[in-house]
Amino acid sequence: MNLSSYAALAVRLANSAAHAPGEPDPLGSPAECAGALGDCLAGPVTRRDLDVLRYVRAEFTAIFDAAARGDDQDAMARLNALLVQFPIQPEMTDHDQARWHVHLASQGSVGDRFAAGAIIGVALTVSGLGVSRLGVCAIASCPQVFIDASPGKSRRYCAEHAAARGNVSTLRREPTGLQPQSPAGQAKEVPGRATSAAS
Ligand SMILES: [Zn+2]
Repeated sequence: MNLSSYAALAVRLANSAAHAPGEPDPLGSPAECAGALGDCLAGPVTRRDLDVLRYVRAEFTAIFDAAARGDDQDAMARLNALLVQFPIQPEMTDHDQARWHVHLASQGSVGDRFAAGAIIGVALTVSGLGVSRLGVCAIASCPQVFIDASPGKSRRYCAEHAAARGNVSTLRREPTGLQPQSPAGQAKEVPGRATSAAS
């Protein structure tokens, strides 16, 4: 398990605040929370877990907002505070005959474990990609956050709106991408492969 992939938990948690008007807050009750995040939670949710998750959700929202407006200092000060409050307990494991690798130890409350995983995930993601990869959807009315893992750092929309706009951008890109510089250009690039493919 790549610990940076836990950053997806932070995105899910932050975006749980963007519930539709009239719909219950996914962190409003243990039952709602289990329905929204149960697949990532290590057991039954208590009231204290809800308090922890609501607090961390607000902090993640503030971190993504700060990063999106270029205030790296504020974003990282908040992340540092979370790292102190929700320390991880790493351990080595070789489950399922995989090579030995780092896991998070199974200890602490449900809320604390979720928070610690999400926080270290964001920290490692920032380390690998940069603070500017934490984004807020470019649609003004949409508060949803995302992590931009695109090679060209080109992402602007949350998952929901990126999916809605994906077809448009693909159609726009394709014509330039598919046209070779010259008819012979492609054959010259990989003569070895072209020969072996033909034989
Ligand atoms: Zn959006």
